[in-house]
Amino acid sequence: MMSNIAFIGLGNMGSGMCANLARAGHQVRAFDLNAEAVAKAVATGAVAATTIAQCVSDASFVITMLPAGKHVHSVYFDDDGVLAHANENALLIDCSTIAVDEARSAVAKVDEVGYGALDAPVSGGVAAASAGTLTFMVGGETADFERAKPILETMGKNVFHAGPSGNGQAAKTANNMLLGISMIATSEAFNLAEKLGLDAQTFFDISSKASGQCWSMTSYCPAPGPVPTSPANNDYEPGFTVAMMLKDLRLAEDAADGAGADIAFGKQAEQLYARLEDQGLSSKDFSVVMRHVKDD
Ligand code: NAD
Repeated sequence: MMSNIAFIGLGNMGSGMCANLARAGHQVRAFDLNAEAVAKAVATGAVAATTIAQCVSDASFVITMLPAGKHVHSVYFDDDGVLAHANENALLIDCSTIAVDEARSAVAKVDEVGYGALDAPVSGGVAAASAGTLTFMVGGETADFERAKPILETMGKNVFHAGPSGNGQAAKTANNMLLGISMIATSEAFNLAEKLGLDAQTFFDISSKASGQCWSMTSYCPAPGPVPTSPANNDYEPGFTVAMMLKDLRLAEDAADGAGADIAFGKQAEQLYARLEDQGLSSKDFSVVMRHVKDD
């Protein structure tokens, strides 16, 4: 069934997601503070909106893909924001990566007004957003999840219900902390193997079939050579930047402090990526940590 969809936040990720919704035949109204981003969305099948009010007034679904929690709260709750203008049956789906607490407090406020709302952050980068192969981790009521699922499936290949509000962000924060740590561990392993006399391909052939195997190795190898598509073979151009990894590790740290969870390695990983940022590498791919491990 085709729906009226409002899409707010047409950056690196949102532009591809919006294009996939329009390509599937949905009526998409697109809004961003950046007029160029709106023009690009129009070129891929959306209708331009110049205000949030115009974007959301007819929409059954309001999708946001914004930089951080403060932007989501502002777009939802400002006087000229989504809550002031959405129609009463609208379901709000926030796909941005934001803090678990920020997601839960947003839903609590939205609930008071009577709208349904989901946190639905994604895994997979810009290429997956364009290709429609994202993984969605969704928090919220089951009925709202079932209503959103066909829309999310237009933009992704895996759509998981993680439980009540905030659980999508909780899954995302734990997953990305694991990714940040495993990229460092993989880099250390390749460096150790090399120093002990193995070249990267030989170590990869063995470890990718042994118990050290992980995504950071087999899909995104930080050592140049074994995985041709990995950023290591393109001077560590992103991909997923050091700055984005730092954002996610800081969200994990805050969440862990609030929940009383011990994340000693997560905290060390945050410090290491912060050192990369201090060295001017924030816009390199986070797998550039391999160079740091090698040089130390
Ligand atoms: P981006 O900075 O490229 O895009 C954000 C867009 O939001 C920009 O076009 C900006 O103009 C717009 N925006 C900001 N404030 C606004 C407002 N008040 N009203 C309307 N538009 C506004 O960011 P991105 O890389 O597309 O990431 C979006 C979200 O997805 C982030 O939360 C990020 O952590 C998450 N994420 C990104 C990736 C990735 O690889 N880039 C992967 C997974 C998740």
